[in-house]
Amino acid sequence: MALVARPRSLSASSSSHHFRKPVPLNPRPICSLHINSSSSPFTEKHSVERYQRDQWLYKNQFGRTSLCSIPPDFNSTRENDIALQLPELKKLLQVLREKRESKGGNCGPGNVFLVGTGPGDPELLTLKAVRVIQSADLLLYDRLVSNDVLDLVGPDARLLYVGKTAGYHSRTQEEIHELLLNFAEAGATVVRLKGGDPLVFGRGGEEMDFLQQQGIEVNVIPGITAASGIAAELGIPLTHRGIANSVRFLTGHSRKGGTDPLFVAENAADPDTTLVVYMGLSTLPSLAQKLMHHGLPSNTPAVAVERGTTPQQRKVFAELKDLANEIASVELVSPTLIIIGKVVALSPSWPHPLKEASCLVEVK
Ligand code: SAH
Repeated sequence: MALVARPRSLSASSSSHHFRKPVPLNPRPICSLHINSSSSPFTEKHSVERYQRDQWLYKNQFGRTSLCSIPPDFNSTRENDIALQLPELKKLLQVLREKRESKGGNCGPGNVFLVGTGPGDPELLTLKAVRVIQSADLLLYDRLVSNDVLDLVGPDARLLYVGKTAGYHSRTQEEIHELLLNFAEAGATVVRLKGGDPLVFGRGGEEMDFLQQQGIEVNVIPGITAASGIAAELGIPLTHRGIANSVRFLTGHSRKGGTDPLFVAENAADPDTTLVVYMGLSTLPSLAQKLMHHGLPSNTPAVAVERGTTPQQRKVFAELKDLANEIASVELVSPTLIIIGKVVALSPSWPHPLKEASCLVEVK
């Protein structure tokens, strides 16, 4: 069984309470672009708009720089646009260094904040995150930081996209480390924005480690991880007395790029544990098979949620044995989070809530 649902906030009867767009603090972009931006709330597809907003300079075919001339062959240029920012970045670094020297050069390094931005809905940001975002000189952000969150950035700050997307050349992790370090050493307040929580499958630990080894202090501001944000959105308690006594976050992604990193399946196949799988779309068919092989009932309730907590959210409910096929049939794409466990049937959107939920609760 499966159900594909649009977000509540988009349905006519919805009491849309948390998709309200915040009042943007920035001036309007210099020009509006209509380049196949689809409806993604995330930044990957909008990065050119972001560069425009920041007045990153583009060279047109006559070699002149222009604020608004996006070259005609946008796709081929897109691969280069980060490289095009380098002169601007260097200039910015130079300005910061000069400013610092003019003050006698004896002030310490700037601050680096690793900030979690939650799964997409800007109202899930912490107050601390909003304060730091608004005071930043430079912000480096990933693919899963939503545009609504970036609208909170102060008008004088610089935004730099450093996300990694298949087929899209961007910064390597080492380059990101160097950028953070150079700007912090020049005295800037540098904010590294990461979707969800920076310390949950976010490589925040690596960046923190690198900077601390270079003597830079790193402040971490937690974010609502996709599991919490999406479970709340769907009305799924990740733990529930008598139904799930633990919750486990796992990644479906293989570090070496293989498709079968699922050695955890044996331990994870516990009917009393809720499993939340990050980055699990491609390996789900294999994971589901293994979980069932190791004893997880094939009718365990499950859900896959694409672009959770955003107005474009889509979700597919199914029993574990059917989930991979149902996901394929509606072509969910990344970012998608998968929740597997009896608690999923407690969601008001579970297709057979009453029947399933009454079977689930243990009679003590
Ligand atoms: N640090 C992030 C996780 C980054 S890993 C966090 O704490 O949430 C990226 C994976 O997170 C995605 O592949 C997807 O599985 C999940 N994810 C993050 N945001 C999501 C969203 N809005 N909707 C669905 N899945 C999301």
